[in-house]
Amino acid sequence: MINGLRAGRCVVYVDGWTNVLSGPLVVDTQELGRRPGNERSLDLSVAAPADLGSDVYGVPEGSDIAIELRLEAVMDGVLATGTASAQATGECVRCLVGLDDEIVVDFQELYLYADAGEEELSLEGDLLDLEPVLRDAVVLALPQNPVCGPECPGLCPECGARLADDPDHTHGDAIDPRWAALSRMTETDNKE
Ligand SMILES: [Zn+2]
Ligand SMILES: [Zn+2]
Repeated sequence: MINGLRAGRCVVYVDGWTNVLSGPLVVDTQELGRRPGNERSLDLSVAAPADLGSDVYGVPEGSDIAIELRLEAVMDGVLATGTASAQATGECVRCLVGLDDEIVVDFQELYLYADAGEEELSLEGDLLDLEPVLRDAVVLALPQNPVCGPECPGLCPECGARLADDPDHTHGDAIDPRWAALSRMTETDNKE
């Protein structure tokens, strides 16, 4: 299971020494060539990798991501600049209504020809993997506490109704808080 989740980023060793990247976001730069100034534009449509976003709000695995990508050969490597559009789904943290929003994120990353240090990315042969870059861009773009609207009033503390749908509803005379506590206890008893 864990291997399956990570399959998009695994490095496959062929013949014990050549690494070949695999995954839906791996792009071959061979046609670009390495002469500085060479440019190439690509329109990609890929399936979203797992864990893009958080548990509360994210891009579902396997859903479509459209990427407009420009590759540019520079002295040290390949500069990848792009815009990704995807559908993020989740729940409003205040009223729990379902969210389904188009998100558009921009990214730019230099992939070095040479081996990269910890903070950098490099090409594997002619291949580059957009996944870590896209993942960072999407995670940064998604709100940690998504809401259906900035004014979402949340749920009624009495009955759990979504207040945005029914802002003026009332519950008649407020229940005496002592009775409310007692009725909660009774409910708990009944469940046991
Ligand atoms: Zn809401
Ligand atoms: Zn209510």
